[in-house]
Amino acid sequence: MTLEADGNGAGAPGVPTTGCNERAVTRERGQHEVFCGLTGIIWLHRKIQDAFFLIVGSRTCAHLMQSAAGVMIFAEPRFATAVMEERDLAGMADVDEELDRVVGQVLERRPDIKMLFLVGSCPSEVIKLDLDRAAKRLSKIHAPDVRILNYSGSGIETTFTQGEDACLAAMVPEMPQAGPEDPAELVVCGTLADVVEDQFKRLFDAMGVGPVHFVPPRNSRDLPAIGPNTRYILAQPFLGEAGKALADRGAKHLNAPFPLGAEGTTGWLKAIADEWGVDPDVFESVVGPGRERARYALSRQRAELEGKRIFFFPDSQLEIPLARFLAREMGMALTEVGTPYLHKKHLAAELDLLPETPRLSEGQSVENQLERCYADDPDMVVCGLGLANPLEAKGITTKWSIELVFTPIQGYEQARDLAELFTRPFDRRTRLEI
Ligand code: SF4
Repeated sequence: MTLEADGNGAGAPGVPTTGCNERAVTRERGQHEVFCGLTGIIWLHRKIQDAFFLIVGSRTCAHLMQSAAGVMIFAEPRFATAVMEERDLAGMADVDEELDRVVGQVLERRPDIKMLFLVGSCPSEVIKLDLDRAAKRLSKIHAPDVRILNYSGSGIETTFTQGEDACLAAMVPEMPQAGPEDPAELVVCGTLADVVEDQFKRLFDAMGVGPVHFVPPRNSRDLPAIGPNTRYILAQPFLGEAGKALADRGAKHLNAPFPLGAEGTTGWLKAIADEWGVDPDVFESVVGPGRERARYALSRQRAELEGKRIFFFPDSQLEIPLARFLAREMGMALTEVGTPYLHKKHLAAELDLLPETPRLSEGQSVENQLERCYADDPDMVVCGLGLANPLEAKGITTKWSIELVFTPIQGYEQARDLAELFTRPFDRRTRLEI
């Protein structure tokens, strides 16, 4: 999907400016190529097991979801598209009435649903459909059995991971208020695979850290109370709005690298352990075995990546933590690290660890970035689906950034899988060339 940005934003396009941890950052405000925020529904609907996502959109949105999710659905999906017809778009039909009818149908057919998201799309935004008002009206009708929330998954000016950010931010007002007298609790914000969540939970228990809540929860009723003694740590780097919503409720952000690789995972766990006053010996005895397993697994893969040059197009907002992991733990050479948004506060610990060498760019300008990429002639490019085929045709090995969001890559036990996502494209190319 190709969109034209409106030219808003600080700094002249394509010109490096300083200011973010004193590094020069090239701000790009040109044509961009991204998947839209509806994509997040694919992993969110599998995570929150009693939630339903009703996209209020067009046939294009329905087709996108079917083709993107088609190969990944193992059970009856909990998402659908309420397709707006010409009569709706022309204002001839009462869209509120139609929406009430469709939501009623869904909930009648699926009594297991306890939270329903109305998900906005480009068409619903273009005709200025007020889904916030619709969600409030429908909540009154279906309370207390079902909560109805809304967020935008539109592809207008977004990148695909913003869908999760908007969804989690929409859940925060539903969380009860905790008071100053309530004990400290930890909120881990960002979708993690269940297996990863369980591994972290075991480490937290062994260190005596808790109570711990994961957002999004597996059950929509398990929303944590938020207050001044809540500590939150992000598990994903693309949650600017969700983080802000938690901070606005009084929760304190824990600054840490993201849990990718042995180093990132240790830094992430250490930030939590320090906040909970965990004894350093206890910390070492709990995390040491996993960290050493991860280091050993990575050392066996390092030879395949060491010295290879990598270029990141801005797509998922995972780029900076991935670049840090690949440079520091796998010995790769960074040429350019592009990210759609650079959240200074959430990425502060990552930027401290990132080697000085690479160019950093924020925002998109496909033409400029392609030019720099061709000039760099890297061994590997991490990019969106739309750019991968043309780059492969030019002989450049690519990695789809969306795959890094779908795959469990966080934590010690997944470090090897994370490295393999980067070694495999080289193996494939070698096999094709034989
Ligand atoms: S929300 Fe917009 S970008 Fe996404 S599929 Fe629908 S029309 Fe396309």
